[in-house]
Amino acid sequence: MEFRIPVSPRRWQILSAIEHALDAIDLQDVGGTAAAARAALTGVLAAPAHASAHRISAVGHAHIDTAWLWPLRETVRKVARTVSNVTQLMDEHPEFQFVMSQAQQLAWLKEHRPEVYARAQEKAKTGQFLPTGSLWVEPDTNITGGESLARQFVHGKRFYLEEFGVETEEMWLPDTFGYNAALPQLMKLAGVKWFLTQKMSWNTTNKFPHHTFWWEGIDGTRIFSHFPPVDTYNSDMSGADVARSVRNFQDKAAANRSLIPFGYGDGGGGPTREMIARAARLADLEGSAKVVVEPPAAFFEQARSEYADAPVWVGELYLEFHRGTLTSQLATKQGNRRSEHLLREAELWAATAAVRHGAPYPYEELDRLWKTVLLHQFHDILPGSSIGWVHREAEETYAEVARELNGLVGTALTALAGPASGSTVVFNAAPHARDGVPAFGAAPARETPAPAGAVVAGDSFVLDNGLLRVTVDARGLITSAYDLSAGREALAPGSTANLLQLHQDFPNEWDAWDIEAFYRNTVRDLTEPDEVALAEGGVRVVRTFGASRIEQLLTLPAGVARIDIDTKVDWHEREKLLKAAFPLDVRAEYTSAEVPYGHVNRPTHTNTSWDAAKFEVCAHRFLHIGERGWGAALVNDSTYGHDVTRDVREDGGTTTTVRLSLLRAPRFPDPEADQGSHRLRYSLVVGADIADAVREGYRLNLPERSVAGSAEVAPLVTADHPAVVIEAVKLADDRSGDVVVRLYESHGGRAEAVLTAGFPLAAVEETDLLERRLPEAGEHVVADDGVRLTLRPFQILTLRLSR
Ligand SMILES: [Zn+2]
Repeated sequence: MEFRIPVSPRRWQILSAIEHALDAIDLQDVGGTAAAARAALTGVLAAPAHASAHRISAVGHAHIDTAWLWPLRETVRKVARTVSNVTQLMDEHPEFQFVMSQAQQLAWLKEHRPEVYARAQEKAKTGQFLPTGSLWVEPDTNITGGESLARQFVHGKRFYLEEFGVETEEMWLPDTFGYNAALPQLMKLAGVKWFLTQKMSWNTTNKFPHHTFWWEGIDGTRIFSHFPPVDTYNSDMSGADVARSVRNFQDKAAANRSLIPFGYGDGGGGPTREMIARAARLADLEGSAKVVVEPPAAFFEQARSEYADAPVWVGELYLEFHRGTLTSQLATKQGNRRSEHLLREAELWAATAAVRHGAPYPYEELDRLWKTVLLHQFHDILPGSSIGWVHREAEETYAEVARELNGLVGTALTALAGPASGSTVVFNAAPHARDGVPAFGAAPARETPAPAGAVVAGDSFVLDNGLLRVTVDARGLITSAYDLSAGREALAPGSTANLLQLHQDFPNEWDAWDIEAFYRNTVRDLTEPDEVALAEGGVRVVRTFGASRIEQLLTLPAGVARIDIDTKVDWHEREKLLKAAFPLDVRAEYTSAEVPYGHVNRPTHTNTSWDAAKFEVCAHRFLHIGERGWGAALVNDSTYGHDVTRDVREDGGTTTTVRLSLLRAPRFPDPEADQGSHRLRYSLVVGADIADAVREGYRLNLPERSVAGSAEVAPLVTADHPAVVIEAVKLADDRSGDVVVRLYESHGGRAEAVLTAGFPLAAVEETDLLERRLPEAGEHVVADDGVRLTLRPFQILTLRLSR
């Protein structure tokens, strides 16, 4: 027991009572004398807590990693052991309550251990077993895409509703490696009121200033949030943990409550009898916090009512740790990225074929495939921090998911494309019209202009499409990217772009997880080429180093100021980090990085320790930098880790260098991580604003599909404002045949848009993520030209369109 009241008489009274208890016990007859020893303690144990004592809501918990140092299949057994244990403890201790936070784990139990699952359902009825967390798994939230996060809520909440009759209201993510700033809005749209994690206590630079606060997302939505000050999700409910909670709690002046999740995780069985007994013993003791075993929702209701004016934290919750998880295990990350875009295509085209031709909509297949993809977004799979076995299986699963989704897409496109007579139809699943093909529509194939091609100029190569002129030198490095429309050079004077840089990457402790700031102290620039030559409409560059080989094809597509870099890597490095650098002549105050359903702005300077700690950051499909009037974007099809640095040159200009983290090679927990062949694509878009960055990001990730046929396919839905991006088009999960559309404002401004349906529209209803009517939503009037919408910056809207 830890005492923090050294001047209190209480300390001396307790020590005296313990002395009497020890005197009373006869070690030759413990059974016969224990009662006397207990009696000696009765007085001090009967003294109640102070009226002002901190209040702790304790709840049984077992943090079970859905895969990590074991494969998925082992987790089924861990879950069965844990649930067997806790339901037995519930029989013995009617006051004991336990939260279970990943719907997938209960779904496994239902399938593999129905008798244990029945016990959980029985104990849910008595209020002891508490389905919690609202998500399918506890996912990564840096890398997971926006629509995936929406479906994490849909499938998690729906499972708890259907199986347990419980509407969960918490987002429970104690162990995830950082939290994107779109989450508050997604939570609210899923009917989730509370957010809990403790992971920010792992920050290595800055101490997070609050334990209880309102978290405000990019659109302005606020969610009441709590970080248990016990700083663990595996408390043993000891006096030391209770004392630490009280001591750490940073909001003491205005609030007096915190939560402790107690119990062994990862197959350790959850809470023990001893922990439950400690919670009871610590309920009401002088000098200690009061402890009540109760559900998280009860804690949150009371915490909010005592602290309704809690401070506000705006924007992302960046974890100053585990930055390597943005890059480790590239193939797993690519599997997720591809799956997310294929799911979008499959739903869109299947819905279009269903509405236009009455084709059957693959409800079951899509439900199953979504759940498979959601499972692999677990916070040790998608971040790349599991053993090789897990990642090997994930890659096989993603290949199967891609095969099935391509099958569904193919079936729908064949139905839509109409009879072929040697003709071809081009389908565009992106939210922007492309080369004469409308968004979500199809048009007969036309001659597409060839890439600009490259010409030899002295010992350099020049690619010029009338918008952008790129010079590649004899080393295969880009020495100039001239924006012909703006009449300015994109690259900093004397610099080279697409410079591949190899860093030693030896983190202090967590190999697959961490990149340390000191990695920048050593670097090898890969400037020596094996080959630089004209090829396939562009320039091919081959480099070998160590045991590895990189082949890049640089091309300039027609009609856009963008250079595409298609990279094939045969990677056999160990403990190395491969970066691709683009030093730009731009004085950017901040970068804009795509995150789920929007983007975040991060300063380029390192004025504060908070800015300095963000030396490796996450971006989804684009990272944009700009000064007033001009900007550039790096877009990618695989990469999440980025870093941005700035320097002021002797000529007074500012160089802002953006680098993509292409590959790592950690050795723990998978000694073979990232070894072998990879292919990834990225592009530099010159003269780009945010609208260009959004569009080019989608373009790179959603290539058009050419199918034999002759039909022109009109879009099922159209939004007429460039900032309004339609993210999902599907048939309603209730199988009513209604079309569900999810869209968002993507530029960070206000948008007045008209949504037009390509079918007779009976009614429009605004819904939550689970496609349930939002009671507080205003009416949407269907006019002749469609539905008028007003969106605030980054607002997400789900609409149910009845036919
Ligand atoms: Zn975990």
